[in-house]
Amino acid sequence: MTTSCFCKVIQPAQGVPSADASQPSSPARRLPRSVGDGSKFWRAGQWLSIAFTDAPTQELQDAIEAIIWEWQPYINLYLAMSSVADAKIRISTRITENTSYIGTDALKVPAGEPTMSIGNKPGNPEFRAAVLHEFGHALGFEHEHQHPEANIPWNKPMVYRLYAEQYGHDKSAIDLNFFTPLNTKHLRSAPYDRKSIMHYPIENRLTNGEWEVKLNSDISEQDIEFARLIYPK
Ligand SMILES: [Zn+2]
Repeated sequence: MTTSCFCKVIQPAQGVPSADASQPSSPARRLPRSVGDGSKFWRAGQWLSIAFTDAPTQELQDAIEAIIWEWQPYINLYLAMSSVADAKIRISTRITENTSYIGTDALKVPAGEPTMSIGNKPGNPEFRAAVLHEFGHALGFEHEHQHPEANIPWNKPMVYRLYAEQYGHDKSAIDLNFFTPLNTKHLRSAPYDRKSIMHYPIENRLTNGEWEVKLNSDISEQDIEFARLIYPK
């Protein structure tokens, strides 16, 4: 059994702008390029409504909500539960995968359909990390292990083989979620952070030489800084 926490970022169809429809598009309101492409961040100060699409047990809802709310002190967004019809972030708990759209890409998802899946359940040692990580995507965070400065000495054949065997993921999904360096327009001003909640745990056997990252289960100091930067008070 591998420590995996594989999360699949979902990309919307090409050619559809992802800007929040409610966000003024004047250049002055866009964030500097050095910290990221502002088009996928929500407008600071707005409500970010959340709902579950598949009526999970109250216990599961409470567990997921409590973890999501750990982001609240660091962002100038107002998290609130709402009806599925009104929710911008719509969470499914039915499938076993953890997936999410990035930030305002969620607005491109047809009404009522999930924008995020939490496959892990409480009791799974990766549950907390998965919820914090997926909601990080919903806030616009991308994968830290794909930071252009990460320079991870991947054993790529091993990664392809393991994730195909264990999860049935094809090469393109693995390339997209592991190896593809983030586009320069998503560059963060922050240096590479191995403690980020957005970093996959990486077992030693998935790399060449002695290189690994343990499961990060908390929002890191640098995640907090970045959250405060993109959602300033
Ligand atoms: Zn992810």
